[in-house]
Amino acid sequence: MISVTTLGFPRIGARRELKQALESFWKGDRDAAALQATAAGLRERHWRLAVAAGADSVPCNDFSLYDHVLDTAVLFDAIPASHRAAFEDDPLSGYFALARGLQDGRRDLRALEMTKWFDTNYHYLVPQFEPGQRFSLRADKPLAELAQARALGLDARPVLLGPVTLLKLGKRTDGGDPRELLDALLPAYAELLATLKAAGAQWVQIDEPALALDLDDADRAAYRRAFDALAQADSPQRLLATYFGALGDNAALAAQLPVEALHLDLVRAPQQLEAVLPLLPADRALSLGVVDGRNIWRADLDAALSLARRAGERARWLAPSCSLLHVPTDLELERKLPGPLKQWMAYAKQKIEELRLVAGALAGDAAAEGELAQAASARAARLASPLLRNAQVRKLLAAVEPAMTRRASAYPQRIALQQQRLKLPLFPTTTIGSFPQTAQVRQARAEHKAGRLDDAGYRAFLENETVQCLREQEALGIDVLVHGEFERNDMVEYFGEQLDGFAFTSHGWVQSYGSRCVKPPVLFGDVARPRPMTVEWSRFAQDHAAKPVKGMLTGPVTILQWSFVRDDQPRADSCRQIALALREEVLDLEAAGIAAIQIDEPALREGLPLRRADWPAYLAWAGESFRLAASGVGDATQIHTHMCYAEFNDIIDAVAALDADVISIETSRSRMELLDAFVRYRYPNGIGPGVYDIHSPRVPDEAEMRELLDKALDVLEPAQLWVNPDCGLKTRGWPEVRAALRAMVSAAQGLREAA
Ligand code: GLN
Ligand code: ZN
Repeated sequence: MISVTTLGFPRIGARRELKQALESFWKGDRDAAALQATAAGLRERHWRLAVAAGADSVPCNDFSLYDHVLDTAVLFDAIPASHRAAFEDDPLSGYFALARGLQDGRRDLRALEMTKWFDTNYHYLVPQFEPGQRFSLRADKPLAELAQARALGLDARPVLLGPVTLLKLGKRTDGGDPRELLDALLPAYAELLATLKAAGAQWVQIDEPALALDLDDADRAAYRRAFDALAQADSPQRLLATYFGALGDNAALAAQLPVEALHLDLVRAPQQLEAVLPLLPADRALSLGVVDGRNIWRADLDAALSLARRAGERARWLAPSCSLLHVPTDLELERKLPGPLKQWMAYAKQKIEELRLVAGALAGDAAAEGELAQAASARAARLASPLLRNAQVRKLLAAVEPAMTRRASAYPQRIALQQQRLKLPLFPTTTIGSFPQTAQVRQARAEHKAGRLDDAGYRAFLENETVQCLREQEALGIDVLVHGEFERNDMVEYFGEQLDGFAFTSHGWVQSYGSRCVKPPVLFGDVARPRPMTVEWSRFAQDHAAKPVKGMLTGPVTILQWSFVRDDQPRADSCRQIALALREEVLDLEAAGIAAIQIDEPALREGLPLRRADWPAYLAWAGESFRLAASGVGDATQIHTHMCYAEFNDIIDAVAALDADVISIETSRSRMELLDAFVRYRYPNGIGPGVYDIHSPRVPDEAEMRELLDKALDVLEPAQLWVNPDCGLKTRGWPEVRAALRAMVSAAQGLREAA
């Protein structure tokens, strides 16, 4: 008999209860016991919800107060020496010190580095291993969660991050290869398995998403050594979970690792079932990931059913493709979705119900078969809906010619004309777009949204903020101004709200990191721009300033990347549609007299596929989309782009191919190291390596910025170099921004005098 389970459930709570509990604990308004009570309450509620929706068994230890990778590092006592005392003092505040840093007058501890979890928008804390790292077991968390579930009478399966993925995600402080620590880790891992078995666990789930990556021989050897060692342990039965893509060339390896069951992602890679089945030893069971854990559309249950039938006797579980961490909790809460959208969608709870239906149909349950037919027609209705298709957009896209994705002239000709028009000094100064979103700005937006501040009042408020912001920049002596983005709530939502084809949820929260959640727009249909989106504000700002004011847009790849995207056509097609809408906006800005237009693409890098072999195709359509948006303008209009949180070494060709006239990048935290890729490439266009880390309230002084600029000038042509912060300033306060930009402008002036 096949049974229904999940690999993990969203933790934050349908109403973001965990976020509220965490933030009030951090503020000191709530004590540890109250925080733990909220956490335990959420776990219980989520287990019960999963069971009520049709799960036969549930995961445990998938919960986390901040991050499951950090939990795993702590579980094996991989606590950096710097944080150990805080940890021994009080494990909970030590834990949060690792997650968020700790400054209390007595101590000044930095947070662990944070980075993206595979190709998701979830961020994990990078485990930090010391030279000679030793591991020991601190099993209280998984034991407590297992005990809690068992006390509720639930068949719970502890979820553990696997040893190889754990090491591969971590870093050694001495720069060595973390995989060398495997032999030190395995005894603690084996002890954990024995401990969980003694506590009553029948199964454990060992997550090894790294099996969906390109692996080398050392990785493969590590996998064999690790799982051979764990097979010797006194262990519950092991479910090895792989997800986020096909096993591909790792299929034989994964199929042969000594475990009792293997989970396959059959949403991203339905075809891999055929590939894996013949490789499996006779006694190996399967868990079939047949509904999408990464998106919010109702599943194709007929396809799920036929996969399950094909797997036959081996199929032990039906599950989502990956943990449900990446989708919101419960669609029922949505009250305001437009038209038929709600009938097309499924959140975590609904996804479990879908699995239940498939399991029912497999068992020959007539009621389930009826509901399955209904689900199929809801899905068919979406795919056939006229809301998904806009004939005009399709016609325009079909008519896109390659010439539309190239600027009319090469950079040297363009920059000469742009210089004539803009008359900028050497080392021009600018900022990335946003200025502080103060409490007043957020309050005015909230008042307006609630109807307490009318349109005219809100508009007058924003106009005043914008003009003030321009005056500030003029007083500071900045060369290329921005309007400040006060009218924008979020860099994707602002555009999504104005484009056809997007919808917005009220409860579609997904954890980004810790207590931070995002509510991705739902890109459900063809994208079109009914009217200009930013032109009025850009024109208003330009009318109130003598110096050039940049037009400010979010790029097509970033809008795509930070939305839930329709699954009925390739992502590339949706991206091109967004690009076409942005192209119209760019042309309208140009027609309104805007001389410099910035198209931000901070998410270009994070959209990279997990497998190298898939990179060129992605970079080709992503780059083409950017150029389609950017290239309609005349030579004298200057196109800027901005990217942050990125390594450039392996994508520099694609970044250069965007052919932006100016690119600003984040470089200050890496002390200009991120510039290396551009230098090696001999990147010819304008470049603004950030000289001021906007992620920190610290204000760098002029000398510090000058030093960074001198470093940049060692390797760049003076005519190439722009001077700007790392990213937008919206999270900062005015006093620090003023001080930092004043120092930045003087640093640029000093440089000009020395030139
Ligand atoms: N223009 C945006 C801003 O300044 C860019 C934000 C980003 O790169 N994440 O806020
Ligand atoms: Zn940025």
